[in-house]
Amino acid sequence: MAKVVIDAGHGGNDPGASGNGIVEKEYTLKISQYIYDRLKDLGLDVKMTRTTDETLSPTERVDRVLDAFGNDSDVIVISNHINAGGGDGAEVIYALRNKNTLSNLILRELESEGQNIRKAYQRRLPSDTSKDYYFMQRNTGNTEAITIEYGFLDSKGDDVNQLKNNWKNYAEAVVRAIVEYLNLSYTPVPGENYYTVVSGDKIFMGNNEQ
Ligand SMILES: [Zn+2]
Repeated sequence: MAKVVIDAGHGGNDPGASGNGIVEKEYTLKISQYIYDRLKDLGLDVKMTRTTDETLSPTERVDRVLDAFGNDSDVIVISNHINAGGGDGAEVIYALRNKNTLSNLILRELESEGQNIRKAYQRRLPSDTSKDYYFMQRNTGNTEAITIEYGFLDSKGDDVNQLKNNWKNYAEAVVRAIVEYLNLSYTPVPGENYYTVVSGDKIFMGNNEQ
């Protein structure tokens, strides 16, 4: 049975980044809840590090990751974040101990939902380059720990509108990537027939073409 831990980045006293009507801790929680519900429906074993607006220290967060299904290499950890710093597009960070297969699948699926993708990358700790830079990769044992930055809340491009309007589609993209990675069968959301608006689309409202 496939095991997945979903981590909603930040929370409680730590809102993460905020701007343009987006608070990171709120988006990470709703994206995480969505992915959790879908993976559960698809029959995977899945747990969350937090389900409320809760403050978690890095140590508490990592403990919850490792306590969920144990410190095993077949446990997938998805840590959800919203970026800041003025860029545009999605990034995925993966651990030094892992290959980039799942990260690339995630980026490809996000791209299929209209998000532009930047890169999947590993980052090393300058003081000890045998270790990962970010605690979510460094301190999560043997698990396959991935951090997803869905887009920039301070983007001068289209990320702000995309995050607000398309976050569910991006969460579904991650669900598809995980299911594909695990060679399980994917079923779309029952009754859902959603469409992602991408730039260049003509949107008809009443008789007025906008
Ligand atoms: Zn963050």
